[in-house]
Amino acid sequence: MSKDGSKSSQIRNDAGIPDEFLRPYQPQESESAMYALWEKSGYFNPDNLPGDRTEPFTIIMPPPNANGSLHAGHALFVTLEDIMTRYQRMRGKKALWVPGADHAGFETQVVYEKKLEKEGRSRFEMKPEDLYKEIYDFTIENKSFMENQLRQLGASCDWSREVFTLDQKVIDTVYDTFQKLWDDKLLYRGSRIVNWCPKHQTSLSNLETERETRTENFYYLKYGPFVIATARPETKFGDKYVVMHPDDARYAKYKDGDTFECEWINGKITATVVKDESIDMSLGTGVMTITPWHDATDFEIAQRHNLPFEQVIDWRGKLLPIAGEFTGMNIKEARPKIVEKLQSKELVEKIDDKYSHEVPVCYKCNREIEPQVKEQWFVKMQPLALRALEALNNGEVKVLTEQHDKILRHWLSNINDWNISRQIVWGIPIPAWQKDGEWKISVESPGEGWEKDPDTFDTWFSSGQWPYITLGFPDSDDFKQFYPTTVMETGADILFFWVARMLMMGLYRTGKVPFKNVYLHGLVRDAKGQKMSKSKGNVISPLTVSDEYGTDALRMGLIVGNTPGTDLNLDPRKTGAYKKFANKLWNITRFVLESGVVTEKPTLRDADVKILSRLSEVAVDVTSDLEYFRFHLASDKLYHYLWDEFAAVTIEESKEVLKSTEANSRRYTLYCVLSTSLKLLHPFMPFVTEAIWQKLPKKDSELLMVAKWPQ
Ligand SMILES: [Zn+2]
Repeated sequence: MSKDGSKSSQIRNDAGIPDEFLRPYQPQESESAMYALWEKSGYFNPDNLPGDRTEPFTIIMPPPNANGSLHAGHALFVTLEDIMTRYQRMRGKKALWVPGADHAGFETQVVYEKKLEKEGRSRFEMKPEDLYKEIYDFTIENKSFMENQLRQLGASCDWSREVFTLDQKVIDTVYDTFQKLWDDKLLYRGSRIVNWCPKHQTSLSNLETERETRTENFYYLKYGPFVIATARPETKFGDKYVVMHPDDARYAKYKDGDTFECEWINGKITATVVKDESIDMSLGTGVMTITPWHDATDFEIAQRHNLPFEQVIDWRGKLLPIAGEFTGMNIKEARPKIVEKLQSKELVEKIDDKYSHEVPVCYKCNREIEPQVKEQWFVKMQPLALRALEALNNGEVKVLTEQHDKILRHWLSNINDWNISRQIVWGIPIPAWQKDGEWKISVESPGEGWEKDPDTFDTWFSSGQWPYITLGFPDSDDFKQFYPTTVMETGADILFFWVARMLMMGLYRTGKVPFKNVYLHGLVRDAKGQKMSKSKGNVISPLTVSDEYGTDALRMGLIVGNTPGTDLNLDPRKTGAYKKFANKLWNITRFVLESGVVTEKPTLRDADVKILSRLSEVAVDVTSDLEYFRFHLASDKLYHYLWDEFAAVTIEESKEVLKSTEANSRRYTLYCVLSTSLKLLHPFMPFVTEAIWQKLPKKDSELLMVAKWPQ
């Protein structure tokens, strides 16, 4: 009801239009009521949709992390996927959008560890089961918070099918896959160099590390008759092998296996000459010593020549007893002291202080990665990748855009084995047991003396199986009906983390691609095009924007002009303009209702025939855009059509026409344009269009969300 009740009810009596249209549109009041209406209808669940629907349309939602608020990237994916789902639902498809929530292993544990740190606690002082319980409670609380935010953004997903990444059915299927990989000999236990974060105490995949360019000292050290160069003298305590290229003429007199005694950091050592073709003769002196435990290249050389390796730096980044007097020191503080000692022994030939190189760092804490040798579970990826490439080649799956298709193919063609072990508590435990070096895959203990692998799975190992798990693989009706899914819509930044893994695992487990189309969106940046970050203080919360301007306006702000795969700038001012647009629709509706509704088709004037044929043209155009994922164009066309053509021209001239004897032809036309435009605009601005629809006197469906698409 209007605040000034008496006046507005008088107007209502005169004009016969609902009260709401006598004041500006109030998204804040209307949106939650519309969402409740949709949810109550049951139509988010495709089994309840009206009519005879046979053709499925399926999207599996990238499950948002249940560890905090939704960010602008989430708002973008919700908008894109909701547009697709609403459009296909109106087109008569059996439209299913499956929501999810991600426990987000390492990510959530990092968030929780920060919370513990603030409270003066540490996970290393807690029992793993206590820590797990605390993180579980924290996550479940955040999960419902996150779900309500998805509702606020208008997500028309089927809540009855929601899946949490730690649900039992997820764990069961993940265990089956692990067992199958083992049976198929695609899984092995391997000592490999891993990227170790000394702060987070876990290994990280290459994708979880970032590279920073640093300028550091490069030390040229005397090593017997040779000079070796290194940026990391603190790793060199155990170096007993000196390696050079077999064709290097400078060192022709040294034979493979020759030994010599030399003075080194902590006294005399016996060193052995190794010839290896991987050595770059042009780099430094062409000679190096190797530290296989802490360097991937050295590790390979050691493996080729069957050399022993020893750990020098412990898991926390401190020197081990091999370092003698430096034992227990942090490597950073030890480095200058070691150099000082080497200098006092006259073992430093020279120091180059302008050595610029790339250093891998943890993507969460920025701490330098310490390569370490660790026994882990590895999946052999090449056979899986070959099948994925085949699916790309024969068009079973299409990737938008062409550039991303290329990147994906390149990755798949150059794939490494996947380390799926993580040393964190918050995840799915690896169901493996060890006794005397023998391994068994089993959920329960195989018997006495068997020790459980304390590690958990890399979170991408379970989310890589998401499409078939969520649909109840292998024998549910949903799986039979909705798999393969129609579209996978997600961020371009997780093309390899997630999309490639889903593709490979889906083909491996089900024999079919998990999705037929891949639509990737770019990063949401701030109004000036800067990357949003807490430290810069430029983070725009989509929920705040929605509170201020309404979700419809936020959605338009995210979609108009946003081409697939590229980054977009979220400008709250632009969003403000779409709030005005929602209100414009409101005013258009008021005008159309006030002029009187005619739904029986009269003999149409030429001018009205023209208006309606232009409407059909727009409908054809928008439909084609939606079919080909050109949401940025469709939304913009509707905006300009309704504002610049319908409101600015048609409605303006109608003021005169409606006074003439041919007013009925115009009344019919205006109502046609209004109701058809609401349908076309509904996927983009679901709330205001439904709110208006609910007030229309004549319509072909009670709810706009299931009205028939006008094409
Ligand atoms: Zn870290």
